[in-house]
Amino acid sequence: MHSKAMSKMRPFDLVFCILAFIAYSDQGMAASRMRPAPVGAPSGAPREYTAFDESDLTSGFLRLAFGSDMQRLGESDDRIRKFDHRIAFRISSSGHVDRSEMYKRVLDDFIVRVPRIDAAVVDTSTAPDVIVRLVDAKDFVSALAAALGDSTASAFINQTNPRCTTRSRADELGHLLRADIFIVVDRGTDIFLDCAYHETLHALGLMNHADDIPWTTLNQRRSVGYLSVYDRAMLQMLYDPKIRAGMSRFDVQMLLPQIIQGLD
Ligand SMILES: [Zn+2]
Repeated sequence: MHSKAMSKMRPFDLVFCILAFIAYSDQGMAASRMRPAPVGAPSGAPREYTAFDESDLTSGFLRLAFGSDMQRLGESDDRIRKFDHRIAFRISSSGHVDRSEMYKRVLDDFIVRVPRIDAAVVDTSTAPDVIVRLVDAKDFVSALAAALGDSTASAFINQTNPRCTTRSRADELGHLLRADIFIVVDRGTDIFLDCAYHETLHALGLMNHADDIPWTTLNQRRSVGYLSVYDRAMLQMLYDPKIRAGMSRFDVQMLLPQIIQGLD
């Protein structure tokens, strides 16, 4: 039973991503809307969908920006969560392979291609909004348990074998206060890139998964490893100034047609 003091604790969201590293078949999809994966993507990365109609964008946004299939510790809510200021990323590398530079290139990809995201990597002299912990697989559970400091979370972790996960906290208005990304570094470059893009989307406020949407990296049945046209659109929508932290599904649904029309 929760005491009154417990119930007032800030809830946080913990997303366990059970990413499948199998070739995803795009057979049967409309090929005219697809192009090869971008340069720098993993060798087995799926081709990229390039065109979406309004209903694809609306339904995906409502799925990915609201709700969650995560372990929610605390009260539940269903509202927009986003950062409202420049996002300071700190990269903490403790694995035997240092993938800090590789993560920085992933983040640069977001910053360059999603102009509405204002983010930068900072050193230890600046308080971080997002901490990216790059760890060996053998240290993943202990790193996560140390950061969570919560027996409920530890019990959950022990039942799974995640390669990457994200925890985030928002205030009562839906402003993200902090996100912690954990990624294993010693399972190869392809897994690292898939995790890095996937978890960064979560950390920026797209907290849900949609395992039946074939064009998002947040489909856990796909291994992607690049910032897709679709996920870029999701972030441009989330960080449109008209979409404010704390908004309900209803508020957002009213605005989406106009926002989608303004996408580049
Ligand atoms: Zn995930």
